Amino acid sequence: MSRSILSARADFPILKETVNDHPLVYLDNAATTQKPELVLQAMDDYYRHYNANIHRGNHALAARATQAHEDARAKVARFLNAEDPKQIVFTRGTTESINLVAYSFGDAFIHEGDEVITTQLEHHSNYVPWELLCQRKGAKFREIPFDENGELNLEVFKNMLNERTRIVALNQVSNSLGTVNPVEEVIRLAHAAGVPVLVDGAQGVQHLGRDVQKMDCDFYAFSSHKMYGPMGIGVLYGKEKWLEAMPPFLSGGEMIDSVTSTKVTFNVLPFKFEAGTPYVAGPIGLGAAIDYLESFDLSELQAYEDGLLQYGLEQLADIPGVVIYGNPKQRSCIIPFNLEGVSAYDVGILLDTQGVAVRTGQHCTQPIMDALKIPGTVRASLALYNNKEDMDALIKGIHRVQKILKR
Ligand code: PMP
Repeated sequence: MSRSILSARADFPILKETVNDHPLVYLDNAATTQKPELVLQAMDDYYRHYNANIHRGNHALAARATQAHEDARAKVARFLNAEDPKQIVFTRGTTESINLVAYSFGDAFIHEGDEVITTQLEHHSNYVPWELLCQRKGAKFREIPFDENGELNLEVFKNMLNERTRIVALNQVSNSLGTVNPVEEVIRLAHAAGVPVLVDGAQGVQHLGRDVQKMDCDFYAFSSHKMYGPMGIGVLYGKEKWLEAMPPFLSGGEMIDSVTSTKVTFNVLPFKFEAGTPYVAGPIGLGAAIDYLESFDLSELQAYEDGLLQYGLEQLADIPGVVIYGNPKQRSCIIPFNLEGVSAYDVGILLDTQGVAVRTGQHCTQPIMDALKIPGTVRASLALYNNKEDMDALIKGIHRVQKILKR
């Protein structure tokens, strides 16, 4: 039996905090989510009761820690519906996962004159690594533009794909506009041209479907800290044929099989990509976050979050002087806006004085801001513990900001 989403709020101790003498209204979830008791306890339990370095130890604590770490890997594999846990590489987060592919896959398969396609809707994490790779290799960096609704133009994409295209990288959900991108359609088109696809799931994994076999993506990257888990741990899923063919990214201990001064052979998957002592508490915390997320029914969760998003967007649209950016057919959990004639930064500061936490600026998406010809936006972003009262506090806060600025 799934739990009611309305009961979620009580699981997050931090939501009882006050900020600037107001109850905390946390609407910066796209930057990072808060952590439920279950995650805090799992990590505390590890450090209190079985902290040890893993894989090589032959004592009881090391065995227990290794088991917990590898159980977490198996849990992630099941969560993503991956074929095998060996396809799950632990990284520091989405950024490192994408860099791993850009360096490793890029090193092996991208050469002068080749082409890489990403989109104008990407976070810098899924843009800069490809741009720099293209500069290193003399390859062509191409981006699918977005239209006036904040949606990708797939007609342009179809014309971009050609025999020099080596990889396509796009996000499941834009962290700036909230656009839910047609990843399955992009993957179908790319695969028809024999091109693999990396999906940046940083803003999708906690809200939408994450079945990598159904998506048929070649790589899927996400960060634990945006899905109620700890910071500093993330995941790269890859199809086995690619991970086997790719050289290691980082080298050192753990990723080797044998080392001499003339020859190094590598460990099996996924350890080939996990050099050095891993962040053992990270996967344990992430595993607890998966248990937490899976205690709710995914379609109920989506309906709840969509309802809240629509409520917030409608309330906001009714306020004179508010500009909302993008109007995609499907938007997930992101409300991007500005108050006419006011800097986003000032709006953020004034909302903070009322206990409302939002993010302001470019949101690591300068290409989007450049295309919209604005310096930045205010971004309110939702998670499963937000409620109508949070939305009302945001709306009330904006009215108050307007009043203060009129004085
Ligand atoms: N991609 C997207 C869509 C994101 O929203 C973020 C985080 N804002 C990242 C990548 C980078 O994630 P991290 O900083 O956890 O590596």
